[in-house]
Amino acid sequence: MNKQLNTETMKTTKRNKMKEWAEFHKMPALNMNDVTYKLRRRVMAFIYEAKKLADFDRVDIRITENSKDGCLGLAAMAGGKSKGHAILIPIESVNMNDDKLRHIVFHELLHATRNINHDDNCPLMQPALNSKTNRELVHNTFVKYF
Ligand SMILES: [Zn+2]
Repeated sequence: MNKQLNTETMKTTKRNKMKEWAEFHKMPALNMNDVTYKLRRRVMAFIYEAKKLADFDRVDIRITENSKDGCLGLAAMAGGKSKGHAILIPIESVNMNDDKLRHIVFHELLHATRNINHDDNCPLMQPALNSKTNRELVHNTFVKYF
């Protein structure tokens, strides 16, 4: 089997796994098209912002057509069977303002890349979205986990 075919197979397997995982959580991922790429770019901008603050593994991001039970984002925990590195963000979160979306993305990044659990005493890792969130608060809290 040639190398290129192997790489293609790996990509397909990974894509299917991601799709199955999203469907299992009743948050089906949107097909990747121009509109979805544009939505995902907004999320990726915050991943790049986080990359400037800390070093973490590559994460797969998918935008989902709906949230489930008011879930603003979902991450495969780094310590779990899926080994993390995957985050689902529903469209309604992508449509939030910068402060809220940044908060959601950084929160999910800590689940997915550092295996951090919820913490009621942490302004970033408390389960509900912090209404007083802002860039400085999110950045300062995020770096403490590295
Ligand atoms: Zn969470």
